[in-house]
Amino acid sequence: MKTPLDFAYQALPMRVVMGTGALDRLADEIDQAGLKRVMVLCTPGQRELAETVAGLIGSRAADIHPHARMHVPTESAAEAQRRAKEVSADGCVAVGGGSAIGLGKIVALKYGLPVIAVPTTYSGSEMTPVWGLTENGVKRTGRDPRVLPVSVLYDPALTVPLPTAVSVTSGVNAIAHAVEALWAPDASPVIDLMAEEGVRALATALPDVAADGTDLDARARAQYGAWLCGACLGATTMSLHHKLCHALGGSLDLPHAATHTVVLPHALAYNQDAAPKAVAALGRALGTPADPATTVWNLAGRLGAPRSLGELGMAEDDIDEIVRVALANPYANPREVTAEGLGQLLYAAWSGQPPIS
Ligand code: NAD
Repeated sequence: MKTPLDFAYQALPMRVVMGTGALDRLADEIDQAGLKRVMVLCTPGQRELAETVAGLIGSRAADIHPHARMHVPTESAAEAQRRAKEVSADGCVAVGGGSAIGLGKIVALKYGLPVIAVPTTYSGSEMTPVWGLTENGVKRTGRDPRVLPVSVLYDPALTVPLPTAVSVTSGVNAIAHAVEALWAPDASPVIDLMAEEGVRALATALPDVAADGTDLDARARAQYGAWLCGACLGATTMSLHHKLCHALGGSLDLPHAATHTVVLPHALAYNQDAAPKAVAALGRALGTPADPATTVWNLAGRLGAPRSLGELGMAEDDIDEIVRVALANPYANPREVTAEGLGQLLYAAWSGQPPIS
């Protein structure tokens, strides 16, 4: 009989520096990694921050490449790889959310150049060896230890400009990693602890962040939760919720964090009767014995998050196609995934109904 103490756990090498002013440590981190010419990557909207970063590291900055895009389209990947070669970069500093970090990972995948990450959202890519690449609307992902950042600097001050709406959806995106880690086929007691603490930190920090985005204490607690939840994502295999969001993002180009936020209560409702250990941990983390699906739905709604996939741009007619994509490859999930069940889940998420347990 399998007991909760039958597990395999592979620790990932993580170097994390957290705290206000952590960015000031970047030059030291670059030196410690033995890098001399790094390419600074960001999305177009964060060019100014990338310039500040380049200023802080002086001659160690070989280039600023402000062309990261969500889901790493192949053209964007090829351009960054070409540029890294052209400027003889020996590493990348990715400043931003999962889009900037994802681009750094793709350069690492091709040339083995180490990535140092300076995350400015809560999405967690900096903690995982998972890369993604999108071609003709189809997103491929894979795991490779070379893409795991060698060092991560979490500075809560850098998240202050993140708009409230994005802070909330990005935070719920992080919670989703922990939720699925709790029922993952490769869950372990260490990851369970990180998941529960990560959800607790985010669920208590996000209302404070939404009330005052300049509250550095709240920003720090949210970032701490994001780190833990990201580590859960890196250490375990994700199930129904992430498969659905992957299908919705790849096929319909829906916004990443907002899609996670809408889908999570429904994926929780679908699975929670089959995942009592996860429900108990989430009850403790969310501070209520009420069912976690409804608690997360209420929390996100109270903080102004979108409630329906319809408002994110999905048409009702798209439901059948997403069911088809989500069923195309089997994966572990606490409850059997059926076309009928997925259709009901997606209809509720599309229309903005409360989650149906
Ligand atoms: P993002 O990186 O796309 O950022 C969203 C927007 O917010 C961008 O326009 C960006 O410029 C802006 N932004 C970021 N930080 C900001 C700040 N502090 N202030 C103001 N604006 C800011 O969003 P994301 O949700 O972090 O990342 C999504 C991408 O990351 C997706 O492609 C997703 O698949 C990928 N991802 C990958 C992993 C992984 O493990 N490989 C994990 C999570 C997400």
